[in-house]
Amino acid sequence: MSTATLFIDGAWRSASDGGAHDIHSPHDQSVVATVSQASQDDVLDAISAARVSFDSGVFTSWSFKERSALVSKIADLLERDADLIARKESDDTGKRFIEAQYDIADVISTFRHFAALGAKEHGRSVDVGIAHVTSRIVHEPLGVASLIGPWNYPLLQIAWKVAPALVAGCSFIVKPSELTPQSAIALIKIIDEAGTPKGVANLILGPGSVVGASLISDPRVDLVSFTGGLATGQTIMKAAATNIKKLALELGGKNPHIIFADADIDTAIDNAVTAAFLHSGQVCSAGTRLIVERSIHDRVVKEIVRRAGDISLGGPDDELAETGPLISKAHLMNVSTYVERGIAEGATLLVGGHRSDKPEHANGWYYLPTVFDNCNTTMFCVQEESFGPVMTIEIFDTEAQAIAIGNDTIFGLSGGVWSGDNEKAARVANALRHGTIWINDFGPYRPAAEWGGYKQSGIGRELGEHGLGEYLEIKHIWTNNAPSRSGWFRDNK
Ligand code: NDP
Repeated sequence: MSTATLFIDGAWRSASDGGAHDIHSPHDQSVVATVSQASQDDVLDAISAARVSFDSGVFTSWSFKERSALVSKIADLLERDADLIARKESDDTGKRFIEAQYDIADVISTFRHFAALGAKEHGRSVDVGIAHVTSRIVHEPLGVASLIGPWNYPLLQIAWKVAPALVAGCSFIVKPSELTPQSAIALIKIIDEAGTPKGVANLILGPGSVVGASLISDPRVDLVSFTGGLATGQTIMKAAATNIKKLALELGGKNPHIIFADADIDTAIDNAVTAAFLHSGQVCSAGTRLIVERSIHDRVVKEIVRRAGDISLGGPDDELAETGPLISKAHLMNVSTYVERGIAEGATLLVGGHRSDKPEHANGWYYLPTVFDNCNTTMFCVQEESFGPVMTIEIFDTEAQAIAIGNDTIFGLSGGVWSGDNEKAARVANALRHGTIWINDFGPYRPAAEWGGYKQSGIGRELGEHGLGEYLEIKHIWTNNAPSRSGWFRDNK
């Protein structure tokens, strides 16, 4: 791949200081791409291009319907290139190619959802109770947005931001994780091909710690939409204070997964294994906290351990693999340290707990699915996200206890409850303070339904209707069709 991989003001370019870096496969450390690493000048150029294009009206003057048609065309082009993009995504993340294909299908659904939403009527009339006054609420594009994404579902998390930003009429700068830039490059090529006006979509590559500062603090940026870790979210909130930027934050989760004794236990166990170990736990909504009713604890644990121990790890094209490597050596070290800390604080390690020692995994960042029993809410391993394949198991005796344990976290992204008693399941779902709750299921989402976190899992919502609202300003226009004097102050003339 050429290293002219920054897209600024409608043109591809290399970094102004020649900066570039290699992308390594997490599966075997081979170099899968070399991309530009933006300089500070490049970042400022991208912000300028977005600001100028927004203020010029080149895109804001399009109607919602015109912008929706553009987003629809982007979905068509994504469909055309789906497998090529899935390959890039699986190269960068190490995930199985088939999983990357599912992710790109979700990306396309996201663009289709927002295209359909944008094509609907926007704004409304308000009855102000005065016959000669018309009052309208109108929706306008919010401005210039910095769109910053993580490495676990690189294109999907960016798509949740780019698609509504385009429908709304914002100009933006996309910054994917430095570890996984290739699919974002492909998306921006498509956005350009589809006929997006110059300067509206810009792409900056490089480490967040280097290129991120201006994206989150420059006063010409009106909104930061960020998906990533809590600590980075806190940095962004502080930086955004410069000009009271709007913020949309999708942060971490430590998600409770509650199984009552009256559930379909075999189905619940199967789903619990998927919830915790899909994509090796590198999922913000992973069900890593299993909370089990005491009477079924032994049965559930025995089966979970058997299933976790059987999970087969492998690279993008390993047809027998069920999940892949961790994203990087640094992340593997973090997960190792997290597990050591769990053991030190008294969790009982039942399976996993170390790197895969298979020869075919020697050059990759493979960590075995790990299960800790005898956990409770005072423990670090229950409270902190590992973002790796680590499940903790807690016990409850009563419904109230299950709810209290499930809510005993600073996070509030998602949770699940399994029970054969629909009323009980609904009561628990209502009481859990998390943004998504699954009853007798865990994991599915749809672009038409809002996604986001309570508490420290974030601010705002992506997807659904609200996900478009994040990119819109709301204006009230009052028109008096029979103006008269206000008469409030005496006129002593
Ligand atoms: P990080 O917070 O480390 O990084 C996320 C993005 O922010 C990356 O593009 C990163 O760049 C960038 N970044 C890092 N520091 C700064 C900075 N100072 N200024 C601006 N940008 C910066 O998270 P991860 O990529 O490690 O992703 C994992 C986290 O994301 C987990 O906590 C997970 O729960 C959360 N997540 C939440 C989701 C949700 O829907 N709530 C969905 C997916 C993940 P770079 O990587 O190039 O350094």
